[in-house]
Amino acid sequence: MAVPKSKITRSRRGMRRAHGALLSENPNECTNCGELKRPHHVCAACGHYGDKEIVAMSADIDLDEEAV
Ligand SMILES: [Zn+2]
Repeated sequence: MAVPKSKITRSRRGMRRAHGALLSENPNECTNCGELKRPHHVCAACGHYGDKEIVAMSADIDLDEEAV
């Protein structure tokens, strides 16, 4: 097993972690509904990706009616 030769000081550890901060998200506007969405993800508001509806979100589909 590799063993560190010497202790990493608080200073060096801090210098390494200076690059470890989380970045904020960079949302895009959905081309279908204009809602902010994560890039390269299906829109959570309308279920569209690009110009296609990937997830059926339409309100006109009533699940209770379909079961009858
Ligand atoms: Zn959308």
